[in-house]
Amino acid sequence: KQTQPILNASDFKRILSRIAHEIIEKHQGADNLALVGIQTRGDFLAHRLADQIRKIENVTLPVGSMDINMYRDDWTKISHQPVVRPSDIPFSVNDTNIVLVDDVLYTGRTIRAAMEALMDFGRPARIELAILVDRGHRELPIQADYKGIFMDTGHQDTIQVHVSEHDDQDLVFREIN
Ligand code: 5GP
Ligand code: MG
Repeated sequence: KQTQPILNASDFKRILSRIAHEIIEKHQGADNLALVGIQTRGDFLAHRLADQIRKIENVTLPVGSMDINMYRDDWTKISHQPVVRPSDIPFSVNDTNIVLVDDVLYTGRTIRAAMEALMDFGRPARIELAILVDRGHRELPIQADYKGIFMDTGHQDTIQVHVSEHDDQDLVFREIN
């Protein structure tokens, strides 16, 4: 099995800092804004973005989380429907600008399920998407508004995302299968 490094800890830091700036530039500040991370690693990334935005704007954004899983047997079996578990959304979604945050964007099915689950809570003013790695192969018309990097992958490849809160260091690499 071949591995290819993609992002180290410094890249990680720069990307999150850039995306935090992009979010507040687009929204002309941090009013009426909330973040929702997709567990597990999107959750950690959402909290890091909130930390960055607090440093820049002096505003503490509400951060929610959602647990959505595909239970794929392997990365080539993409017909499975996402399973949505109870979410933790500690703010009113009505008329709020919500940025969904996930580590990897692939077919888009997880984000579709996340948007649907989110809209069960109310009517957001707008939903956007921030993603660390876009690995291509979309099966739905879903794109990221804020993107770390695009990495062309084979269907069989996996992008390994390690975050320091969970895996003891920030690191992204591609496993070529
Ligand atoms: P999608 O639903 O877009 O097909 O897949 C996105 C979801 O599956 C994300 O929550 C992401 O965490 C996970 N995922 C899909 N492909 C990969 C991958 O190559 N590496 C990692 N770490 N997660 C992936
Ligand atoms: Mg995930």
